Amino acid sequence: MKLLVIGSGGREHALVWKLAQSPHVTKMWCASGNAGIAQERLAKNSSPVECVSVGAENLPALLALAEKHKPDLTVVGPDNPLALGVVDLFQSKGFRIWGPNQRAAQFEASKAFSQDFMERHGIPTARAKTFSEPAAAKIFARELGGQCVVKADGLALGKGVLICRDLAASERAIDEILVSHTFGAAGARIVIQELLEGMEISLHALCDGRIAKLFPTSQDHKRALDGDAGLNTGGMGTYSPAPFLDEAQLAEVGRAILEPWARGCAAEGIEYRGLLYPGVMLTASGPKVIEFNARFGDPETQVYLPRLENDLVELLEASAAGTLGAHELKWKPGAAVCVVMASGGYPGNCKKGDVITGLAEADALPDTKVFHAGTARVGENIVTNGGRVLGVTSWAEDLRAARTAAYRAVEKIHFANAHFRRDIAAKALSS
Ligand code: AMP
Repeated sequence: MKLLVIGSGGREHALVWKLAQSPHVTKMWCASGNAGIAQERLAKNSSPVECVSVGAENLPALLALAEKHKPDLTVVGPDNPLALGVVDLFQSKGFRIWGPNQRAAQFEASKAFSQDFMERHGIPTARAKTFSEPAAAKIFARELGGQCVVKADGLALGKGVLICRDLAASERAIDEILVSHTFGAAGARIVIQELLEGMEISLHALCDGRIAKLFPTSQDHKRALDGDAGLNTGGMGTYSPAPFLDEAQLAEVGRAILEPWARGCAAEGIEYRGLLYPGVMLTASGPKVIEFNARFGDPETQVYLPRLENDLVELLEASAAGTLGAHELKWKPGAAVCVVMASGGYPGNCKKGDVITGLAEADALPDTKVFHAGTARVGENIVTNGGRVLGVTSWAEDLRAARTAAYRAVEKIHFANAHFRRDIAAKALSS
């Protein structure tokens, strides 16, 4: 089978790495990939994964690539191409592609759509309202005592969520999005949610249009600095499983969210074939969905895929074909931890082009994989090429051992002004 993978981050490196292990795959391209993806080889025939410099949002060029190479399956990593309708476009030209279509991808592309859907179908969520007028929005923010989260409706590179703890902050946030248009068209509408307190976990479910199969729990670390201080980021590290729910509780939370979600999709004629990733807050009054994502999490993927025992090609094919019922997800016992190494200054502006050393030494450690995100090859060197640079991942019989192994690997890797959190999974070990 020939595969095309769309994307260039750590999530896509993890997807490529796992897909490359499948005996079904004889050739793989990645648009546009990164230096780590370009080093992967297929288990079947040692053929290298070929990175092609086509951006994930350039739909005409992606289609041209598919027409040239005729992949048997295309796998979409990031949210933007899904929101732009890459699945619908490929399907209209007869290509098999994995990911939700444009209508289904609205669960991530429009927070107002998601919020209304959750309310229509009784999915537990925060108290919330949608606005396009600042005056009405400020009245609602006042009703919430200013303790609220102001969210741009559309995709805003993960930056359109402003957490407010008082009235003045909420009014500033409303003006920033609706009056100053900081997030452009993505902020033409806002959703204001009550500020929830609790432990945040990531859920992942693979869906085939009818069935949703739940993964184990994981937890991301969104803030830049230790102790959950500093700015919100794309994610500084993850671990799985998260110990805040046991298996029975996870099944219960999954049911409370996924059953009404699936019923709602059926009632509204939404065929969701892809990965649904609800962000969930475990509050004193039960679990509440704060957002839906329509793709694998980054860096959640980096801790899930080393634990997944199934052939990922078979699972994604079944997800696209509507035949997931025939598959049981199997997970390695134990745990995995991913520590993100970022460039100094992230999530603000970062310098690029610093040489990274120690990659081979870290990768040679047992049960360890260094997933690349913002990296590039320049001659003999691999250099930094973005904010999040690497996702250093280890897996072991328990969380403590996985964490020790991941940090041991991190110690081997060096680049100028490297920044990483030292407390990934610490909350789980002290709970
Ligand atoms: P989102 O992109 O909607 O997941 O928001 C980004 C981050 O903001 C989440 O991962 C949470 O840490 C935080 N957040 C979002 N909504 C809420 C909420 N209603 N209450 C508390 N924190 C929230």
